[in-house]
Amino acid sequence: MKCPYCDNQKTKVIDSRAVEDGGVIRRRRRCEECDSRFTTFERRETVGLMVVKRDGVREAYSREKLELGFRKACSKRGVDTDEIERGIARIEEQVMKEHGKDVSASVLGDMVMEKLRELDEIAYLRFASVYKRFGDVSEFQKELGELMPEEADSPL
Ligand SMILES: [Zn+2]
Repeated sequence: MKCPYCDNQKTKVIDSRAVEDGGVIRRRRRCEECDSRFTTFERRETVGLMVVKRDGVREAYSREKLELGFRKACSKRGVDTDEIERGIARIEEQVMKEHGKDVSASVLGDMVMEKLRELDEIAYLRFASVYKRFGDVSEFQKELGELMPEEADSPL
């Protein structure tokens, strides 16, 4: 695992723990060159999972998109990264168990709303206000991107 600060290839795992019953493993690493610390997440694969939009168009599920949605909704709300990781892992797990390889965008959106409601009321309201108008998680990201200026995310 390459160090994000100095690109050195030699990094050491200093702590490793499961975030969600085996679904995600969080690793704390230290760079042997510059001594920086950073976190990596090891996740279960969701290869082949497809999201079916309202107009019938199917697109490959994107964890990054979902994570971005969560991060934007939770922006400045003090929600822990682990909580977001856990929420996404739970959603992925539930989707694969209950819907197999195809999940409708609205089912996915509802799951995100449910999860955000558990995490933070304001994050939930932010997401819900946009999502209910557009009914699509990717539209939500566009809209929120305009509402809230992009902020520099701390490296994981
Ligand atoms: Zn380094």
